[in-house]
Amino acid sequence: MAAAFRSIGIEATVTPDSTDETLSLGGQYSSGEECLPLKITLGDFLRICHRPDFDPRRTAFFMPSASGPCRFGQYAEALKQVLRELGHADVPVFSPSSADGYEGIGEMASQVMRLGWMGIVLGDLAVRFVLKTRPYERTAGDSDEVYAEAIEDFQQILERQGVAPHDTRGVLVNAVTRMRNRFRGIPARYTKDRLFVGVVGEIFCRQNVFSNDDLIRRLEQKGGECWLSDIAEWVWYTNWRQERDIVRQEGTFNLSRLKHRIKTHVQHRDEQILLSPVVDDLRGYEEPENVLEVLDAAEPYLPPTGALGEMVLSIGKAVYLYGKGVDGVVDVSPFTCMNGVVCEAVYPAVSSDCDNLPIRSCYFDGVDTHLDRDQEIFLDLARAYRSRKRPRRVYPDYFE
Ligand code: SF4
Repeated sequence: MAAAFRSIGIEATVTPDSTDETLSLGGQYSSGEECLPLKITLGDFLRICHRPDFDPRRTAFFMPSASGPCRFGQYAEALKQVLRELGHADVPVFSPSSADGYEGIGEMASQVMRLGWMGIVLGDLAVRFVLKTRPYERTAGDSDEVYAEAIEDFQQILERQGVAPHDTRGVLVNAVTRMRNRFRGIPARYTKDRLFVGVVGEIFCRQNVFSNDDLIRRLEQKGGECWLSDIAEWVWYTNWRQERDIVRQEGTFNLSRLKHRIKTHVQHRDEQILLSPVVDDLRGYEEPENVLEVLDAAEPYLPPTGALGEMVLSIGKAVYLYGKGVDGVVDVSPFTCMNGVVCEAVYPAVSSDCDNLPIRSCYFDGVDTHLDRDQEIFLDLARAYRSRKRPRRVYPDYFE
């Protein structure tokens, strides 16, 4: 997203990796009852305000929003309030919302959103590659190095100014091929003895390694290979919801729906073209072709027309991953996260319908957890499940 903003001349940058100072500053300006992602994002923004070179006249913070049954919609408001308290009321907080598919970005919205979308697809792709390679690499660090190179490569292409998104896409396809070849070249031994673990849950906490205590790397060190839910599924989900809202408010045939359909079509096409060089490499790691597969899988437990937000995606994805032959599912959520709490209540029914697939909810609140002990227990259950599971995992050809 930062590179997409740079492509229209905005000097955007990602907040630096979180540190203990993040938690300390976030903690000073929150009551302790908010969700962990608020504390982390607030702390990271405040670290910028504390820099000696901080210039409020040249700074704006980007904090998207969402409607729905959770506290995310309040994050931007909370940030504005703290900035006011600190005397920085004039620092804008830029906050497009999921309610309109984040179109509130402004007149350059279509270019930023299209390039941002390509960035999301490529970021997800790089994560998929690192997760499927790192557990098997012969030299520790090889996969992380290639991952970092790929992200840098993608950014440099996305941020170029004055290039039509269509042309950028063509150059990105070459970058995907470069990334694929670098990952293929990593010396590795692909054996079938690792436990295959699906990771779902609250989008920020599951992606942000600082928030989840590097849960995935720890699982890998204990003999696991992880499949992390991608960020793109949230975009497909908000698209689905937006179209549903349009139909409810304006009827079946109208211009808004037509525009929405065209946008979704372009996104599908971009994704398809960007992923074209890696189809063979992702055999056995296919994401659902349509978000409706996930929503339909969630339907018996949480009807998506009634229950809104990530809880539906987490439940549906857990069922989907069961079908892909995972040996267990971990749900990553911030402590007191409403989505996580609802999911935890529903998982026993999901597990029972999926041959008692082990599903473990892990909560994080920024303090030390018993993660290693909990993971050992979970992996024991996953090992037992693996010996009797019915859906078989499809392995790519390069596995021994
Ligand atoms: S999904 Fe959970 S953690 Fe994220 S904002 Fe909503 S309640 Fe908070």
